[in-house]
This record gives sequence, C-alpha cells and structure tokens, in this order.
Amino acid sequence: MSIEKVDTLVVGAGQAGVAMSEHLGRKGISHVVLERNRVAESWRTARWDSLVANGPAWHDRFPGLTFSGVDDDAFAPKDRVADYFADYAKQISAPIRCGIEVAAVKRNSEGPRFRIETSDGVYEADNIVAATGPFQKPVFPQIVPEGEGIHQIHSHAYRNPEQIPEGAVLVIGAGSSGTQIAEELLGSGRRVYLSVGPHHRPPRRYRGKDFVWWLGVLGIWDLRAPAPNTEHVTIAVSGAYGGKTVDFRRLAERGMTLLGMAKSYANGSLQFASDLKDNIALGDANYLNLLDQADEYIRQNGLDFPEEPDARNLAKDPECVINPVLELDLNKEGITSIIWATGYSFDFSWIHLDAFDAKGRPIHERGVSRVPGLFFLGLPWLSRRASSFIWGVWHDAAYLAEQIASEDQRSAGLGMAFGSSSLRG
Ligand SMILES: Cc1cc2nc3c(=O)[nH]c(=O)nc-3n(C[C@H](O)[C@H](O)[C@H](O)COP(=O)(O)OP(=O)(O)OC[C@H]3O[C@@H](n4cnc5c(N)ncnc54)[C@H](O)[C@@H]3O)c2cc1C
Repeated sequence: MSIEKVDTLVVGAGQAGVAMSEHLGRKGISHVVLERNRVAESWRTARWDSLVANGPAWHDRFPGLTFSGVDDDAFAPKDRVADYFADYAKQISAPIRCGIEVAAVKRNSEGPRFRIETSDGVYEADNIVAATGPFQKPVFPQIVPEGEGIHQIHSHAYRNPEQIPEGAVLVIGAGSSGTQIAEELLGSGRRVYLSVGPHHRPPRRYRGKDFVWWLGVLGIWDLRAPAPNTEHVTIAVSGAYGGKTVDFRRLAERGMTLLGMAKSYANGSLQFASDLKDNIALGDANYLNLLDQADEYIRQNGLDFPEEPDARNLAKDPECVINPVLELDLNKEGITSIIWATGYSFDFSWIHLDAFDAKGRPIHERGVSRVPGLFFLGLPWLSRRASSFIWGVWHDAAYLAEQIASEDQRSAGLGMAFGSSSLRG
C-alpha cells in the first residue's frame, strides 16, 4: 500500500481550509487540503435556499478578492458565497482534493507524526489542521418524543416553506437561523410560533454604517472571549430582504406568536418558561448599548455622521409578550411541524488523539492544540469573536501558518541534528 507523505494536511475546504491553504502557500509550506465533498459545501448545500450572507459583500470576504456582480453594501446569496470560495481557491491554486473523506487521524509510531486514514488511502503528515467547521453536528433537545405525529427537523435540514407539511409551524430558537426561517414561513402565509431565548440583536445599520462596521471600529470583533454569562446568548442578525434589524415586536405585529424558552412536553402540550419579557429586554439592552457606543465613538472622533433619533423608538410590547403563552396544545393550535434552530456541537470523533476535554471540545490556545502538530481553525472564539466568520478565519489562518512554519523550522533543525530527512517537498 502506498502512503502519501505531506508536510501539512488540512482537513476541510470551506472558507477555513481555503484561508489556511493561502497562508501555508505564502510561507512555502507544502500541503494538501482534503475535502469530502466540494469546496464550500456547507454554503452550497447545508443551508436554506434563500439564505444570504449576514454581512455585506465589502465585509464578508477575504482581502484578496472582491465579490463580482454583488454590490459592496449588498448581501451575497449563499450560492454566490460558495462560488466565491471556489473562485478564491482557484485564484491561489490551492492544492485541494475533493471527494476525499478523512476517517481517522492517529499518532504514527515512527516517521511523520500523524497517520491519516482516508477514503482514498493513507497519508502521513507532520502537521494536521482541522478545518471542519464551527457547526458540525446539529443538536436539539429531545423534548417532543418521536411518534407524536409532529414533523420535527433541525434548522440545518430546512430549505424552504414548501418543504414543510401544511399547518402551523413552531420554530424553536431565535438566533440568526431561527429568526430568518420563522420570518420566511410567516411571509409564505403560515401561522408561526417562535420560541425566543436570550439573544443579542444589534441594529443592522446605524447612522449610515452597517453593524459589522461598528463591531470593527468599537473593537467588538476582536474581543477575546464572550462577556461573563453571555456564553449561551445567541445573536439575531439577518441580511435578508436587503438587511433589516431583527425586531421581534414587528414580527408579532405581523401575526407571529412569540414564546419563551421551550421547557417540557406532556400529553400533546409544550410548556414554555415565563422568560419571554426578559429575553426581549436583554435583546433591547444589547441593541441600545450598541447605539450608545456608536454615538460615543462618533462624538469622540468628531465624525459628521447623520443623526438617527428614531432608532431609539422601540415599538410597544405585543400582547404575546405582555401575557405570554406558557402552554401550547399543538393539536389545538394546528401545529404540524417543529423546526429546532438550536445550534450545533463539535464532532471530532475522527481525531484519535488526546486533544479534547471531557465534553469533546478541543483544548487549544488560538488554535494550537496541546498535541504538537495538531491545529484547529474556524471554531467559535478560536482567538476572538470574529474567528468563526469569514473575515476572522482568514486572520486566524495567518497566525496558524506562522506557528506551523516555526514548528517546521524547529523540526528541520532537529532533523539535521539527528540525521533524519525532512518531509518538505
Ligand atoms: C446558517 C448559517 C449562516 C451563516 N452565515 C454567515 C455569514 O453570513 N457570514 C459569516 O462570516 N459567517 C456565517 N456563518 C458562519 C460560518 O461562516 C459558516 O458556518 C462557514 O461555513 C464556516 O466555514 P468553515 O470553513 O469553518 O466550515 P465549513 O464551511 O463547514 O467547511 C468545513 C468543510 O469540511 C468538510 N469536512 C468535514 N469533515 C470532513 C472530513 N472528515 N474529511 C474531509 N472533509 C471534511 C466539510 O465537507 C466542509 O466542506 C453562517 C453559519 C450558518 C450555520
């Protein structure tokens, strides 16, 4: 059996794998990127049909290429984002091999550090970069048992309203995915219920600038860790319909029923916590806080940005917030489907190395794992808030390439000292 040897093997060719390839290439580090599907497959097939980027085209991109055919301030449709990364990979001649799944990474007994078993044979490498995405395995709480006659899917399987059986729909989770899916269903004429947990909802634009611009100048993209007690606070933003601030009160005005967090299920009824008012208030506080910070930034820097006092006028609480529904009889309400927009967990079961904590989370410092030669890229908060987003991952990849280069230099030095041959091709 032939074994292919490479210096660095990158697993996954989403935006993280492409960025990693660019920076490894710049440093002259020989590498191969293995992708089980196609470049940017998650953007192509693991999202709903109408998804557009959450950030405007001037922001949600890498420095080396602009989006052709998409206005700088517009939000690129998901297929356009996928094409963008495929084009980018071509532009940098990234050595990506598609259709190859990595099944296992193990420590090698001799020679290069790692043995990598794939659907296309065995590789050996001194460095591995796991770039398999921030959102790997859909998770939802098993609150409503199967066999209750309710169609239940996770948001990652949602494509469009036509796919959902007739009847009212309950969407659980009001982050960016849940909110956009619920609004799309409402617009298609469905009766929609939305379970809203703790969330942040920044203004889409304020005083002439998009919120991603504000997060940049205010240093929020660069925060190193979530503020205490906000680890489980989701963010509700959307580029849909040209980009609008997520506003739950307006959705309620249009007929959506807002609910608190889903708690339990018994005899055909779902119970909800009485936290809806608090969750809406937390979202408001986050929204107003960003306006305050933006105003202060404008004042301190003497900027001549247009005033926008209306941004502070919040609509009145709708009835469903004032008197929240705490129990919902699904049958009585005609609810035939539940969409769980409740997030994802990691799946690094293919890495057979001592690199994880008891919950299966990688132990690392800015993506450098405790196993020499093993690196992680694209994870939420890998180095800072921007890490799992398009712009941030590119910078994290630059850092990891530096680490790999200096690691390789060290190994090359040792190799000379001990007379072994370098793998560098
Ligand atoms: C609904 C949604 C909307 C988002 N919108 C935005 C946005 O607008 N702007 C933004 O900046 N971020 C957005 N994100 C966040 C993030 O940018 C995306 O999740 C993005 O796809 C992450 O890129 P990635 O390369 O890290 O992971 P992925 O794009 O998931 O790429 C990982 C790749 O690894 C491959 N892979 C996995 N396991 C293996 C294996 N064992 N062997 C070989 N290949 C493997 C997969 O096939 C995949 O192609 C969004 C996320 C979601 C869920």
